[in-house]
Amino acid sequence: MAVLLLTNDDGVHASGLAALARAFDELGDVYVLAPEREQSACGHALTLHRPLRVDRVGERRFAVNGTPSDCVNLGVLGFLPERPVLVVAGVNHGSNLGDDVTYSGTVSAAMEGTLLGVPSIAVSLVSGTEFDRAAQVARLIAMRVLVTGLPRKTLLNVNVPAQPAGGIRLTRLGHRVYSEKIVEQADPRGRTHYWIGAGEPEWEDLHGTDMGAIHDGDVSVTPLHLDLTNHRALDQLGDLSGALNAQFRPAARKRARSE
Ligand code: MN
Repeated sequence: MAVLLLTNDDGVHASGLAALARAFDELGDVYVLAPEREQSACGHALTLHRPLRVDRVGERRFAVNGTPSDCVNLGVLGFLPERPVLVVAGVNHGSNLGDDVTYSGTVSAAMEGTLLGVPSIAVSLVSGTEFDRAAQVARLIAMRVLVTGLPRKTLLNVNVPAQPAGGIRLTRLGHRVYSEKIVEQADPRGRTHYWIGAGEPEWEDLHGTDMGAIHDGDVSVTPLHLDLTNHRALDQLGDLSGALNAQFRPAARKRARSE
C-alpha cells in the first residue's frame, strides 16, 4: 500500500492528529511524524543548525525535536520506507484563515510537502474539539486529490467550521484589516512588556473568501500557490530596472575605470 505522511504543529500527542490517523487508516500505510511539542505559529522554519532526533512513540508514530516542516522534509526525503504519495497536516486546533496562513506551522508543513513534489493538504478545525468530523472531511478531500492530483506547486488549505458544515466551498484567502494595536503593560517590577496579536481580527469584504465560507457554516477549501512572484507587478514595475540601471551602471563603469 502507498505511504501517507501525517503531521501537525500541535505536537505528536494532539487529539487532532490522532483523529486524522484514525480517519486515514485504511487509505494506505499511514505514518505519523510530528513535532514532540507544540510548534504553532512557527511558520515555515527548518532546523539546520542542530541535529534532529526521531523517537518512536508508537507503531508508525514518531516524535521529532523539530518543526512541522522538518518532519515533512525528513519523511519525504528518506526517513520513511518509501516516498509518501500524500502529506496531510492537522487537524489543527484553531483556524488558519486569510493572511494568517503565513504564520501557520500547519500550512507550512503542507508547503514543504508541495515544494518537495508531494500533493499536500492542511486541515484546521476553526473551534471546538470535534476533530473526528474534521478528519472525515479531510479524508473525503484527500481521496479526491489522490485520484486527480493537484495543480503544480499548489496545496489545499482546508478549514472546517465548529458546527457540522452545510457544504464544501472553494475560496480565496481573505485579508485582515490591521486595526489592532500592540498591548503595552508593566510587570510587578515596573518593567514594560508587550503583547502582539492579542486583538480580535477584523476582515475585509468576506465575499468569496475562506472566512466568508466559515461565517456561513461551510467548509472552506483554498488552493494556495507557492510561487510568490507577483507576475502582474513585473509589468507594473517595468520602468523600475531602467530607472535603477541609469543610476547603477554609470557608477559601476566609473569604478571599473579607476581600477
Ligand atoms: Mn497549531
